Amino acid sequence: TQPLLRVDNLTKHYGGQRGPLALLTGKPAINIRALNGVSFDVRRGETLGLIGESGCGKSTLGRTLLRLHEPTSGKVIFDDEDITSLKPDALKAMRRHMQIIFQDPYASLNPRRTVGDIIGLPLKLHGLASGRGDLRDRVAAIMEKVGLKTGHLDRYPHQFSGGQRQRIGIARALISHPKFIVCDEPVSALDVSIQAQIIKLLTDLKEEMGLTYLFVSHDISVIGYLSDRVAVMYLGEIVEMGPVERVLSKPRHPYTQSLMSAVPDVDHPGKRNRVRLTGDLPSPQSPPRGCKFHTRCPLAVDRCRREVPIRQDLGGGHSAACHLLQDNVSILG
Ligand code: SF4
Ligand code: MG
Repeated sequence: TQPLLRVDNLTKHYGGQRGPLALLTGKPAINIRALNGVSFDVRRGETLGLIGESGCGKSTLGRTLLRLHEPTSGKVIFDDEDITSLKPDALKAMRRHMQIIFQDPYASLNPRRTVGDIIGLPLKLHGLASGRGDLRDRVAAIMEKVGLKTGHLDRYPHQFSGGQRQRIGIARALISHPKFIVCDEPVSALDVSIQAQIIKLLTDLKEEMGLTYLFVSHDISVIGYLSDRVAVMYLGEIVEMGPVERVLSKPRHPYTQSLMSAVPDVDHPGKRNRVRLTGDLPSPQSPPRGCKFHTRCPLAVDRCRREVPIRQDLGGGHSAACHLLQDNVSILG
């Protein structure tokens, strides 16, 4: 079967125009290379986990897929339709099928709107409700589904707890019965005790409503629990991808290996050597040449500084982009 979403060589660069200010100051215009030729697909009904440090481009990727940010180049094919070439009206209609749940539920909810209005807005925008009564009924139905009291329809966001606000964000994303949801760190801003409830809710809703998720997180335990497959991002590129058990238990890219080394091994406490990367994530304004990870990679050789590694198929749907894959080396002790 065809994947639900196909992403082909997607690039997003910010700035770069030589505006009046750049001419006046003589400084080169800023050019942030947030996404650099990202390619992958998302299968129908799966959860694809997307992991990486903050600033690596995960959120930009999630938003560019929905064209909340315009891509600089590349294609996004959703349900056999190239959404990168859709005109505004067609794009608006498509949004009904592709939604996003944000990290900070409070910032994403209009404080001056009632919860009923916020949740019902997508139905209004897409002309999916037949009259006020129908709208109210459907808002009430989705509120119930996400575990909110329907009696609270006329309250305002500030009257809810963090976990409840995220339920409001989820209800708003789901009311138009989309097929695909970008979950952008939906539990990162919540108390640990609430995180499990929201994760359970999202997995239940996925089954019940036949959803497909791109689940963005920097938390490997969350990704490991939820995902069917996982993609690892570093500086705007996917450096490793594959079935979640495989990638997390036998990571092949040194960056993934360093991420995994930070996760405590419950079966063998103290066994795993934590690999601490030297240096910070380089600026996406001036990413390193060659392999972008070479400035922090403990295994880097000369070739890494010159040549960009291409993501190679390792079998079983597993792929990674590193010059040393054949040598089967690992930075894990
Ligand atoms: Fe490290 Fe070189 Fe592999 Fe990049 S290509 S991850 S620098 S060994
Ligand atoms: Mg983010």
